[in-house]
Amino acid sequence: MSIDYAGFRRELEAFARSACPPEIRAVVAAGQKITKREYQAWQKILNAKGWGAPGWPQEVGGTGWDIRQRLIFEEVMAENDCPPLYHHGLGHIGPVIIRFGTSEQKARFLPRILDGSDWWCQGYSEPGSGSDLASLSTSARREGDEWVVNGQKIWTSHAHEASMIYMLVRTSKEAKKQEGISLLLVPMDTRGITVRPIRTIDGWHHLNEVFFDEVRVPADHLVGEVGKGWTCAKYLLERERLPPANVARLELMRRQIDRLVEDATRAAGARRDFSGLHHKLLLCEADVQGVRVMMAQATDDLIHQRPLGVQPSVIKMTCADVAQRLTTIALDAVGPDAAHRFLADVDVDADLDAQEAEEASDATWIQNYMFTRARTIAGGTSEVQRNVVANELLGA
Ligand SMILES: Cc1cc2nc3c(=O)[nH]c(=O)nc-3n(C[C@H](O)[C@H](O)[C@H](O)COP(=O)(O)OP(=O)(O)OC[C@H]3O[C@@H](n4cnc5c(N)ncnc54)[C@H](O)[C@@H]3O)c2cc1C
Repeated sequence: MSIDYAGFRRELEAFARSACPPEIRAVVAAGQKITKREYQAWQKILNAKGWGAPGWPQEVGGTGWDIRQRLIFEEVMAENDCPPLYHHGLGHIGPVIIRFGTSEQKARFLPRILDGSDWWCQGYSEPGSGSDLASLSTSARREGDEWVVNGQKIWTSHAHEASMIYMLVRTSKEAKKQEGISLLLVPMDTRGITVRPIRTIDGWHHLNEVFFDEVRVPADHLVGEVGKGWTCAKYLLERERLPPANVARLELMRRQIDRLVEDATRAAGARRDFSGLHHKLLLCEADVQGVRVMMAQATDDLIHQRPLGVQPSVIKMTCADVAQRLTTIALDAVGPDAAHRFLADVDVDADLDAQEAEEASDATWIQNYMFTRARTIAGGTSEVQRNVVANELLGA
């Protein structure tokens, strides 16, 4: 039976407008940071509708949608200022459990991702093991029915508010370095786990160090085979960069361009001077269009099960680059006064008059400028992505 994609889009649009609470949509529309409470509230609404996991098969509670429907879902939700799906559970570890997990693991962990009651974080990177992830040294030794974990993770996004961590641990030092790694699912309230915040220049708290001191994990929390965690890790990283994952980001950038153009028009002759910034915006817009074309191509490749080649790496790099350029333009536009106000810790809370609202909007731009500095590092650095592209295209 052929799918009525246009009708599907209309149904999603009506739902997004009526079901997503206005206060959550306002946060997304303003480009502010979405809190765990907001993500969870939206996830519960989606789940109640049966749309909690657009990328999962029906037998584990997903929608069973095809790739085109998933893309339309992401587009419509982003166009209507609904939060993107919280990726660590739904997009990362969920699909790994579906692919490699036991039926007990599926029954235990997937429903709690679907209804938003578990909030996951990713324990991959360690001090000294980021780009060269396979060199990681956090260890797990087997004692009876438990794994005992010792070591440290770093740059762990949202660990301070997560209830679960999926983590790579070394279970053997004898094998080739990729082969001695296993994937463990660990409750964050287990004795011996310490989370320490890493303060970043954007002023938001999202990154952490996580320490493991004789942490005891039930043996049946290991996913897949012992020593084969690298296969799970790669499966996860490959999915992280597939087209649906980038739609919300792309829409956000398109919105940012619109907002900057709107500001430029409104501010003609006013306190902001945008002259000289328009052509930079146009170049960003051209790149966003370019990524859209590439995503359409990659989606077509996925539908027809053709290899994606370097497309995910190029999309990731370009999105990170444009996000940085856009927020740099915004920083130029809001000017040094706004930056000083931000650094003086301006109050950006609700109930603002017109001038305060403008200042709050400036502060959001500045925070986003600071935040996007990390975009060329998080999820695999741009330099490493360029290596991937060079290796693939030049056979280096
Ligand atoms: C905002 C943010 C969120 C993150 N969230 C998480 C998370 O939730 N969980 C998690 O596990 N990790 C997370 N990370 C960590 C991230 O995955 C790593 O920072 C990243 O993989 C780079 O590793 P590294 O920091 O060890 O830098 P390194 O690998 O030490 O790199 C240092 C520099 O050397 C360059 N370099 C390294 N190798 C090569 C090479 N072969 N060729 C050319 N240049 C090279 C890099 O590009 C970089 O410029 C996050 C990072 C950030 C910034």
